[in-house]
Amino acid sequence: MNKWLKRSAEGTSNEERNASEGSSNKIFDKCAPRKSKAYHFHQEWELNYFFTMVKENCCCLICNTSLPMPKKGNLERHFNTMHSKYQTDFPPNSEIRKSKLQALKSQLKVQENMFSGPIEQLKFLSK
Ligand SMILES: [Zn+2]
Repeated sequence: MNKWLKRSAEGTSNEERNASEGSSNKIFDKCAPRKSKAYHFHQEWELNYFFTMVKENCCCLICNTSLPMPKKGNLERHFNTMHSKYQTDFPPNSEIRKSKLQALKSQLKVQENMFSGPIEQLKFLSK
């Protein structure tokens, strides 16, 4: 519930961004046969927006929200509206930002390992 309130309060700049996003897709279908996904995750987005790829999804390392499409505009908007504090607490190109990213990524790995065990057992029990 709180998320919604925050969004509507902070999301005033979204409309401007949407206007400039539409015409930037210049990816040719021929290059990706049999794949509907035309978006490619860029490694530098990890440092820029604290996002990383988890399986098929683009996942926010800070709040674990996953975005189905790794579009720069989506990541940027999420980061700027939800985690603008990180931009000041961990300035771009700083060492503290890199180490924060590493810390978040290692946390993610721990979580993945924790999930892979018990969940299979739960599935088994719920049959
Ligand atoms: Zn997030």
